[in-house]
Amino acid sequence: MNLLQIVSEAKTIAIAGHVRPDGDCVGSCLGLYNYLNENMKDKQIDVYLESVPAAFSFLKNRECAKQSTENAGTYDLFIALDCGSRDRLGFTEELFLSATHTVSIDHHISNTMFAEYNHVEGDASSTCEVLCGFFEDSCISKETAECLYLGIVHDTGVFKHSNTSRKTMDTAGMLLTKGVSASQVIDDSFYRKTYMQNQILGRCLLESILMLDGAIIFSCVSQKMMQLYGAVPADLDGIIDQLRVTAGVEVAILVREEGVQNYKVSMRSNGKVDVSKICCLFGGGGHKMAAGCTMNGSMHDVINNLSGQIEHQLKEYSE
Ligand code: AMP
Ligand code: MN
Ligand code: MN
Repeated sequence: MNLLQIVSEAKTIAIAGHVRPDGDCVGSCLGLYNYLNENMKDKQIDVYLESVPAAFSFLKNRECAKQSTENAGTYDLFIALDCGSRDRLGFTEELFLSATHTVSIDHHISNTMFAEYNHVEGDASSTCEVLCGFFEDSCISKETAECLYLGIVHDTGVFKHSNTSRKTMDTAGMLLTKGVSASQVIDDSFYRKTYMQNQILGRCLLESILMLDGAIIFSCVSQKMMQLYGAVPADLDGIIDQLRVTAGVEVAILVREEGVQNYKVSMRSNGKVDVSKICCLFGGGGHKMAAGCTMNGSMHDVINNLSGQIEHQLKEYSE
């Protein structure tokens, strides 16, 4: 797929990511938005993001991100970034459906190839890394580089997850030459936590339980707890990573109650278990080592279903 060629043939372009945008989603959407605005000035480009977490507020043009599709009209081209399936677009799904042409650029192995043009690199660290492959290095500004660097940092957990390859490091290195302050982006967007976020982290660790002889660590955040702390889902970022590095653990599970008998599940693996496979079984998706889904039923059912699948995979692994 030649992204810049497809873009050059469109006049009006919408860029959008997935529901509950994370660092890679925000970074890739704003990165592409800035790159196109800086290098293809005759286009009318809009970027849509359900929300932009406060920790990413230093990114250029984050205030341009639209949270509503009211009076949006139809676009010549709709570009979905970091989004594995059409329904994960959320409020921009209608724009996708009405657009003349559609593109999906992603790195989720579970991607359903839902667009007209699909470019999915399952072994890329992040959508930001994939996007860099389409860009002319010399046309990337410092501000665009900051967006892309942030996305790579977030999806690799600061270059430590197994999705970090030589290409990831080369790409990040190229972005550094644009003047990005790595330590500032990493501290400001990834490590800095509010007091409230630290308190929830503390509670999740304190209330976590081990299952399957310590191969699974599980913790849950109730709606009540979210209300008590005045927390939004993004405030839980990073908690699952701390659970995952518990000695002996193969899979970490963090569950957040979204409604009555309705749970958002996040899973992380240390290598033996393919959590994307499990989340796909329950209508979600993701990557081998990091995946998510939404499940209905009692908490007991949720954890039983998940641990059963994990046990099954661990048994197969040891055979
Ligand atoms: P999370 O645990 O929400 O940080 O998600 C981990 C990975 O799985 C990310 O790459 C997500 O894009 C993906 N993911 C999370 N939830 C879902 C879902 N319901 N459907 C598809 N992919 C998901
Ligand atoms: Mn994402
Ligand atoms: Mn991503």
